[in-house]
Amino acid sequence: MTAKTRQTQSFDVIVLGAGIVGVTTALHLRRLGLEVALVDRKHPGEEASFGNAGIVQRNGFVPHKVPTHPLKLLGIFLGQSSAVSLDPATVLRLLPWIRQFQKAGSERGAEIYSRVVAPLRAFAVQEHLELARSTNADRFYRQGGWLHLYRSEDGFKESNAERQYARVFGVAYDELGDSAINALEPGLKTGGLKALHWLESCSVSNPGAVVDAFWRGFIREGGSSFRGDARRLTRHRSVWQLSCERGEITASQAVVALGAWSDDLLTRLGETYPLAVKRGYHMHYRPLSGASLSRPVVDVENGFALTPTDNGIRLTTGVELAARDAPPNPAVLKRTKRRAEELFPLGRSLKDEVWMGCRPCLPDSLPVVGPSPLTPGLWLNFGHAHDGFTLGPITGRLLASMIAGKDPLLDPAGLSPGRFFQ
Ligand SMILES: Cc1cc2nc3c(=O)[nH]c(=O)nc-3n(C[C@H](O)[C@H](O)[C@H](O)COP(=O)(O)OP(=O)(O)OC[C@H]3O[C@@H](n4cnc5c(N)ncnc54)[C@H](O)[C@@H]3O)c2cc1C
Repeated sequence: MTAKTRQTQSFDVIVLGAGIVGVTTALHLRRLGLEVALVDRKHPGEEASFGNAGIVQRNGFVPHKVPTHPLKLLGIFLGQSSAVSLDPATVLRLLPWIRQFQKAGSERGAEIYSRVVAPLRAFAVQEHLELARSTNADRFYRQGGWLHLYRSEDGFKESNAERQYARVFGVAYDELGDSAINALEPGLKTGGLKALHWLESCSVSNPGAVVDAFWRGFIREGGSSFRGDARRLTRHRSVWQLSCERGEITASQAVVALGAWSDDLLTRLGETYPLAVKRGYHMHYRPLSGASLSRPVVDVENGFALTPTDNGIRLTTGVELAARDAPPNPAVLKRTKRRAEELFPLGRSLKDEVWMGCRPCLPDSLPVVGPSPLTPGLWLNFGHAHDGFTLGPITGRLLASMIAGKDPLLDPAGLSPGRFFQ
């Protein structure tokens, strides 16, 4: 097609970014009767939404924290921790963000976080299951919850606040010792372990395939999908315009759901959010001697997860604070694998290359969901941090109802982008 013959197609909304957040926002907008164009530079669900641990978490009421224990800090700075890895230059650059993150991890911060996140979590599992049923993705979902594993008594004590909030919000869990863990997951090497079994959560065997199924549902229901670079979005007389591979698209409303890349566009539009990136890795393994897992297990003190997937056991790592676009550092996965093998016989790796992805993180560990406070016609849905697979569909529903002018399912005030402009 030559430039002259390229057509302009008009929509009500352009959704930028086709990770789980963008795809589900687009699907919900479509179901509310709007004409929707979904744009990504790749096939949907190929970034963070592809490579995560696939846990849809009913619990999770305490925000992530900066470690304070001297031995933990020493391990991190010596490059021995599997929970947190650091690139010193990135840490220096992120110091103001880290200070805000530390504040949000205080008792008061946890209170705020829990109050905002609890209503989202109350709907998140159901929202996934409903979307899965209507898009033929239910074959990827499994019940049975997930396990938080603790190797030390001190580690278990650190879960006090999480257990307390779970009781406040009426979320069920079981406390398990070695033999009960063994009965649930005979493949795990126990020996002094404690666990919390979060019964009401679910998980998936292939996160990328789930996003792909949601996207196919969006297309079947009349949505349009385009390849293009979101950074080229422009606005002329209250109309958004974007030149995509298949031509020009326009709309009066645009949604930024670009995950860790959201600030690439927003800074061009004159908006700055304290968005940082926590990188993470995964690798798949064929377990030794027929060992298996029936649900995801997370070693809380060492920051990694083991998830049974369609392609073997997926080991996902903790957090790496490094520049978003820096090359992957295979040492992070190596270190994590050594710790994981103390719990489970991983066996040989099933992929040639380590996968790396970027968690988009705001310092209060909550996403921004709502209208831009600065740019008319612009809506934001990003910053889902460690929880985007869980919360993407419910924040997608929430934002779609706001854009369509419907009563939102829950109060979005705590997620307002305006909280960073006070
Ligand atoms: C190792 C790891 C384990 C995790 N485990 C879990 C878990 O078990 N449960 C959970 O709930 N969450 C988990 N998460 C977090 C979760 O994966 C993320 O929060 C979530 O996937 C973010 O979704 P998103 O749609 O915002 O971003 P993404 O999935 O990263 O999507 C962003 C999209 O924007 C597109 N894009 C970027 N720039 C441009 C551009 N210029 N033009 C066009 N398109 C562009 C990208 O191609 C991409 O498709 C984990 C994350 C990691 C890294």
